[in-house]
Amino acid sequence: MSSKILIIGACGQIGTELTTKLRTLHGTDNVIASDINTRNLDLVEAGPFVILDAKNFNAIKDCCINHNIDTIYLMAALLSATGEKYPMEAWDLNMNSLFHVLNLAKNSIIKKIFWPSSIAVFGPTTPRENTPQHTICEPTTVYGITKQVGERWCEYYFNKYGVDVRSIRYPGIISHKAMPGGGTTDYAVEIYHEAIKKGKYDCFLSEDTSLPMMFMDDAIKATVDLMAAPEENLTIRSSYNLSALSFTPKAIFESIKTHMPEFKITYTPDFRQAIADSWPSSIDDTVARKDWNWSHDFSLNKMTSEMLTQLKKNYNS
Ligand code: NAD
Repeated sequence: MSSKILIIGACGQIGTELTTKLRTLHGTDNVIASDINTRNLDLVEAGPFVILDAKNFNAIKDCCINHNIDTIYLMAALLSATGEKYPMEAWDLNMNSLFHVLNLAKNSIIKKIFWPSSIAVFGPTTPRENTPQHTICEPTTVYGITKQVGERWCEYYFNKYGVDVRSIRYPGIISHKAMPGGGTTDYAVEIYHEAIKKGKYDCFLSEDTSLPMMFMDDAIKATVDLMAAPEENLTIRSSYNLSALSFTPKAIFESIKTHMPEFKITYTPDFRQAIADSWPSSIDDTVARKDWNWSHDFSLNKMTSEMLTQLKKNYNS
């Protein structure tokens, strides 16, 4: 029998593309998209959609019972840059939404959960190069704190109650469909839009800030593969390190310049520089590669070609 899925926060950068992929795999009617608003009209009209507040336990529970949901992908969150502006809201949303879905699984209303963590669980005391799976995690952002605590609770619910919750520490995700929602790595999406629209970009990080990144197609592939992996193969129930690319603003600029030689960049670091400086520059994801055969497909230059091609099409239509 096919899985019946609920995606919470489906209108966001990742949820938009995850919904499409899961509908291809499981059938449109078996994937209920939900969000607090209907801002992404294309997604709202593409299949079953409900308005749902991730902070409202009873509303999520009723939705799961009414639609016979067995699996939840919890994508609603306040991200790193927005979280620094609204710390209490970030804590409230990021933690309570997670408890709600964990408790639904504990009470056998659903069977399986995907919950994304982030490289933001790491901090300035973490080894920056090739950051190991198990290492010092002393995050300095409220977002990072919510993700680190969330990981602890996921592992706890697995050990204590047998809840099948699976998680990935996503790096910065780059995509051409929905815009990113207020993270520190957003520059790596904005730069492609501005290259096409204006031929120049003022970057909010310094030119040599190296951060772990990933093209959306790889992030979706990782999510689907982890959720399909046999339970007995999984050795991590907090969250898996995941790696694809690491690059600086200067490197992405050079990559774009091979297609657009006139493209110009300036650098005006803002408060997001301090957040970026507290994060790793590269990630060791050996465990994910071993446990569920993770591998990425997109290099920086392959991603640049795809981003420019797709965005030019979008802007021309
Ligand atoms: P996003 O900000 O683009 O989307 C989040 C969605 O959640 C939005 O559509 C928003 O309307 C919705 N939302 C907000 N409050 C809600 C509420 N109370 N109830 C229901 N929905 C609500 O975020 P994203 O980039 O798609 O990220 C999805 C997940 O992946 C988050 O947990 C995020 O922390 C994690 N993540 C993302 C990245 C990245 O680069 N995008 C990197 C690491 C981790």
